[in-house]
Amino acid sequence: MRELVFLSLSEEDIKFYRENLKGKDINLRLFKENLEEVLEDILDAEFLCVFVVDKLTERVLEKFKNLSYIHTRSVGFDHIDLQYCKRKGIKVSHIPSYSPSAIAQHTLSMMLYLIRKLGYIEENVKKIDFSHSKSLLAKNLEDLTVGVIGTGRIGSAFARYCLKLNMKVLAYDLKVNEELKREGVTYTSLEELLKESDVISLHVPYNPSTHHLIDEKSIKLMKDGVILLNTSRGKVVDTDALYKSFKEGKFSGLGLDVFEDEEILILKGYAKGRSSDKVLKILEMSEYPNVLITPHIAYFTESAVKKIREVTLKVVKGFMKGKLSEIKDLILC
Ligand code: NAD
Repeated sequence: MRELVFLSLSEEDIKFYRENLKGKDINLRLFKENLEEVLEDILDAEFLCVFVVDKLTERVLEKFKNLSYIHTRSVGFDHIDLQYCKRKGIKVSHIPSYSPSAIAQHTLSMMLYLIRKLGYIEENVKKIDFSHSKSLLAKNLEDLTVGVIGTGRIGSAFARYCLKLNMKVLAYDLKVNEELKREGVTYTSLEELLKESDVISLHVPYNPSTHHLIDEKSIKLMKDGVILLNTSRGKVVDTDALYKSFKEGKFSGLGLDVFEDEEILILKGYAKGRSSDKVLKILEMSEYPNVLITPHIAYFTESAVKKIREVTLKVVKGFMKGKLSEIKDLILC
C-alpha cells in the first residue's frame, strides 16, 4: 500500500480526488487541514500533495520517514526547501501553467479598481454622498504607463491586456521576451521602469534575487502617486518600507493579493490571537479606500481549479506507475 497524503483541500477537492483516485494499492488520506495542523499524523507519507500555505522547511521535512515525492498544486514553490529535497533524492513537482490568464485578470481587475477610484466612490455612496468631488477624478488608461516586473507566463499575459487597453507598457526581466517586444512592450532597466511608470505590477517568483526587490530605495525612485500591484509573492515587497511610504502619501493605490506573513490571516491564526507587526500594518492599510487587499486568490477561477485537479491526477498516476517521464515538464528536482 502506498501512503498518499493530500493537504489543504476544499470539500470539492476532497470529493474529486476521492472519486478519481481509487485503487487497492493506494492508501489515500485527504485533509482539509494544512501541514501544521496534521504534521504528527502524516509522517508515514510517501507522496505528499500540498499547497502554498504548507511550509516544507528542512526542519519539517526531516521528520518524514518514507517521503519520496512532493507535489505542490501551485506555480510557486518557494514554500518547499528544494535544496534539501535534492540532497535526499525527494522528487518535487509543481504546476507551471494552470492558468496564467486567471492571475493576470485579477491583477487587471485590481488595477482598474484603483485607477477609477472605485474604493473612494463606494465609500461615498455608502454615506449617500453622490457628489463628483475632485478626489474622484480618474485618469484615462491611454494616458498611463504600466511597468511590468517579470514577463514570464503571468506578466506577459498582463502586459498584453494592458497593450489592448492602449496603455504604454514598460517591462523589466532578466530575459527579454522578443515576441512581447514585437507586440509593443518596451524593455528597460529596473531603475527606468520604477521612475517612469504610473502603475507597477510584480510578476517575478520569490527567490534570493527577488527578496525585497521593492524596498525603501526602489520606492524612492517611483513617481509620487504611483499604483503598486503585487500578485507574485509577499516577500518580494518589504512591508515596513511600503507601510512607511504609504503613510507619507507616496501611493495613489495599492493592490496586494500577496503580502508578508499572509499565512497568519489565510490560516485563520489571527482569530486565534496570532499576529505580526507586518500583518497589523497590512490590516491598517486595508482600511483605506485606495488599498485593495485580497487573500492570495488571484488564481481562483473555475478554469484554473479544474486544471489544477486534472494535472494533479496526472502526477499521481505518473508516480504510481513509476513513469515520471510522462510528467517531466512539471518536475523541479
Ligand atoms: P514564470 O516563471 O513564467 O515567470 C517569471 C519571470 O520572472 C521569468 O520571466 C523570469 O525571468 C523573471 N525573473 C525571475 N527572477 C527575476 C529577477 N530577479 N528580476 C527580474 N525578473 C526575474 O512565472 P509565472 O507563471 O509568470 O508566475 C510568476 C509568479 O506568480 C510565481 O512564481 C508565483 O510566485 C506567482 N503566482 C501567484 C499566484 C496568485 O494566486 N497570486 C498564482 C500563481 C503564481
